[in-house]
Amino acid sequence: MRFPATFAVIRHPDHGVILYDTGYSTHFLKATSKLPERLYRWVTPVSIPEDQTAAAQLRSLGIEPEEVAMIILSHFHADHVGGLVDFPTARFLFLEDAWNAVRNLRGIAALRKGFLPALLPDDFAKRGQIVSTNRPVRLPSVLDPFAHGHDIFGDETLYAVELDGHAFGQMGLALRRPSGAYWFLVADACWTSRCYQERIAPHPVTRILFNNTREYKATLARIADLAERNPEVQIIPAHCEETLNDLSGASASFGS
Ligand SMILES: [Zn+2]
Repeated sequence: MRFPATFAVIRHPDHGVILYDTGYSTHFLKATSKLPERLYRWVTPVSIPEDQTAAAQLRSLGIEPEEVAMIILSHFHADHVGGLVDFPTARFLFLEDAWNAVRNLRGIAALRKGFLPALLPDDFAKRGQIVSTNRPVRLPSVLDPFAHGHDIFGDETLYAVELDGHAFGQMGLALRRPSGAYWFLVADACWTSRCYQERIAPHPVTRILFNNTREYKATLARIADLAERNPEVQIIPAHCEETLNDLSGASASFGS
């Protein structure tokens, strides 16, 4: 099966160009050129032409890397943070649990968590910023059963939503479009639209990738409930080719 590794480009009226993840980049190939990191590529072969990187795709939209003010990170797996070093001035936003789970990992221990420290810019700690979870807000009822989130800018446009199970501190992003409709970017909480439409549990082999399979299933069930109750909410998994095709032509850009 082909799994595109997508990222989202968001234009916020006050906060400029924001990315949600970056997908892979050619830095990934360098970071996995030697053992033990090479194992990552053997297990999940990756193809990333230069013109498919987040930076190259943004340039084709007329956006220079320096214009990206912020990159919101769903979690620290290499297929989500692979392009960070291409954005020299962006701030990085993430949940504290996600960072704490990987920040001290190196070598095999990092690899087992899908984390490649070489993919982080040298000044990551300086540009990184933790999403405050001190004051959760009630999410718009259209997102039920997801009840609480964190209003990133305090303007009800972007909500960080905790999606437990896949990786510690995984953060989904619910965004209100100018039309008032909601898009819910769910990262790796499910891999394809079929998973939530048909409530397909992950294959046992994939469980070694999860930090908590029971929580993963609970999160997946909530996404399935949301899809049933409110089909007008566009659910966007990070690796779903079908969703990507459905969205081509929508007024947002997704890299593969
Ligand atoms: Zn992941």
